[in-house]
Amino acid sequence: MVLSLFNDLTRKKETFVPIEPGKVRFYSCGPTVYDFFHIGNARPFIVFDALRRFLEAKGYEVTYVQNFTDIDDKMIKRAAELGISVSELADRFIAAYFEDADALGIRRPTHSPRATMYIPEIIDLVSRLVENGHAYVVDGDVYFDVKSFPGYGKLAKQSLDDLLSGARIEVDPRKRHPLDFVLWKGKKEGEPSWKSPWGEGRPGWHIECSAMSMNLLGETIDIHSGGSDLVFPHHENEVAQAEAATGKPFVNYWIHNGYILLDQEKMSKSLGNFLTARQARERFSPFAIRLFMLGAHYRSPISFSNESLRQAESAAARIKNSYTELVNAPIDPTADTSGTAVFPDDALERFDAALEDDFNTAGAIGVLFEVIRTVNQATAGGKSIAPDYRERALSFFRYVNGILGLFDMFGDGEEALAEEVETLIAEREKARSMRDFKRADSIRDELASRNIILEDTPHGTRWKRS
Ligand SMILES: [Zn+2]
Ligand SMILES: [Zn+2]
Repeated sequence: MVLSLFNDLTRKKETFVPIEPGKVRFYSCGPTVYDFFHIGNARPFIVFDALRRFLEAKGYEVTYVQNFTDIDDKMIKRAAELGISVSELADRFIAAYFEDADALGIRRPTHSPRATMYIPEIIDLVSRLVENGHAYVVDGDVYFDVKSFPGYGKLAKQSLDDLLSGARIEVDPRKRHPLDFVLWKGKKEGEPSWKSPWGEGRPGWHIECSAMSMNLLGETIDIHSGGSDLVFPHHENEVAQAEAATGKPFVNYWIHNGYILLDQEKMSKSLGNFLTARQARERFSPFAIRLFMLGAHYRSPISFSNESLRQAESAAARIKNSYTELVNAPIDPTADTSGTAVFPDDALERFDAALEDDFNTAGAIGVLFEVIRTVNQATAGGKSIAPDYRERALSFFRYVNGILGLFDMFGDGEEALAEEVETLIAEREKARSMRDFKRADSIRDELASRNIILEDTPHGTRWKRS
């Protein structure tokens, strides 16, 4: 496979070549666990999990790390509001993260490190920067000296002066340059703190990702991903502090997803501009949410509205129905194997080709819908399909699902349901052949109560959802 990725470090689409053949070291910035995560954050979680699944489907051994930021100003403020400790707050919203992420079909990362579990590693990294002259200590705080690192601005593609004029930064006379950022914060009363060579304190936000990435994946990794709002300052600072410490490249491919806009006009007023993934999945199926997120190229901005999600729901229903028709189609070894009854040979190849081109999930989903049209034609009106057709179509669906995770929410359930319905149909056939019409009718009624309708055809009994 030749995968190309748009690398924000070079602003070019580049062929992906991992450091070690067959292995991918992949870090994705995770949530700050002070609340339920926003629907906007569901996008990178879903999209980059899908990229991980694709790399795995292509035979790579992927070590996928997504962190939890469990100590920062927001954590401290929220914990105080709720009258609980910062670590209790973190436990609560890490559990909530997994509940929502699992429901949205986001696979669990290989490692989900918490910043507070990496304090010694963070202190070690800050110490290296102080020792080699890239950081300085002022009254128990430690700052990174941006002027000491000539590459500062290489990810954001701006000079120090441009960055400075674009950023709203309070002048702090203790800093050598206004863009110098904090690596370690001296203790304030009532805040959680840890012992360090610079007195008690806690890590700044940026340093945790460099420390955890380097410790879990090595000093240079293959891919680092996140939302485009993280490019500056978070990722710029990650590059600076890691590379100033090691003298090696920190990340070979930096990839960022586009913004997700909440269409306020069309969203309900009460929700305003803040919609958590949890609220979203109360209103829309996880399947539709995934389809919406993966239905656009990851770098394009997308607009989340009731209308766009309604469209995703109906697209999801089309996929489900087609799959159900396929699973239930009568199989006949003598079935017509010409025209629409031939499964498109190149479907899998074209699906992969879209993903290999900068992970174009929109293009891949386009191929899925072409296949769905042909499956619908092949199974229309209860037509029988050849066993070979069924096998190839099902294996296409399974492959697609392994990467896009679209049917995880109904896939197994659907097959189990199909099996159960088939068993009941067989039982009904038997009852009818024994003229036990009471039993046969009760089976029909039971299925009807579950919105399943039976149709008796010359080829046997078929079923569908009402
Ligand atoms: Zn990051
Ligand atoms: Zn990060």
